[in-house]
Amino acid sequence: MKVIVIIPAAGLGTRMAPMPSAMDAKTRKPHPSKQFTELAGTPILIHTLRKFAAVDQVSEIWIALRENEIEGFRERLAKDAPDILKKKVELVVGGEHRQQSVEHALNAVSAAADDVILVHDAVRPLVTAEIIHEVIEAAKKYGAALAALPAVDTVKQVERTAEGAIVKATIPRAGVVLAQTPQGFHYSVIKKAFDEATADGFMGTDEASLVERSGHEVVVVMGSPRNIKITNPGDMELAEFYLRK
Ligand code: C5P
Repeated sequence: MKVIVIIPAAGLGTRMAPMPSAMDAKTRKPHPSKQFTELAGTPILIHTLRKFAAVDQVSEIWIALRENEIEGFRERLAKDAPDILKKKVELVVGGEHRQQSVEHALNAVSAAADDVILVHDAVRPLVTAEIIHEVIEAAKKYGAALAALPAVDTVKQVERTAEGAIVKATIPRAGVVLAQTPQGFHYSVIKKAFDEATADGFMGTDEASLVERSGHEVVVVMGSPRNIKITNPGDMELAEFYLRK
């Protein structure tokens, strides 16, 4: 049984910088896209890859990138991250949406029905070996699993308006978890879910939502509040703080 990791890393990250093609006032170079922003001198994506490269069970890592970033990243890996290249690493062209980036990698891998496919956001570099192990074990046993956190805030369902939003209902938070990544699945489970979603034109914001609609139960394992998805500039300070600890 193989464990194959897919890292979607083809986003523009426009909440971090105005546009990746816009100039950075300090460096006079184009803003890097979010996954290439440096955290303690190393691109976020390389931090993330190191977490998976260090896990014995992982045999392959597939990274979906923007087409114009593939060659530069291949060179950077060879120069700065030979530790990651101890695993089989493949670079594929991502798509317009996260789901398509994952799909491109999923269509390119060669896997048996019960191999485990782990999907993890490039921009969650603080994931731990424990969380990765737990998702792998639950995926092996149940076929589908994700890391998630219980909701500590009260959750409101809203209707968006021109001015903001109006509360429509309060969702009991005991019945809510906040999904993170990694999310792990038997290859047969995630492949079927993606094929059905593509046929139906369904677009989800994570892999589990595709697997749920395909009728397979998804098991929850405990994530971590530190496993943040770097989204806004303020998240960088928090990530640097956690990285130093
Ligand atoms: O944009 P969002 O915050 O949902 O991005 C989550 C992850 O999906 C990031 O690692 C990002 O690089 C990736 N992504 C992708 N292809 C896209 C959009 C996002 O691989 N078209």
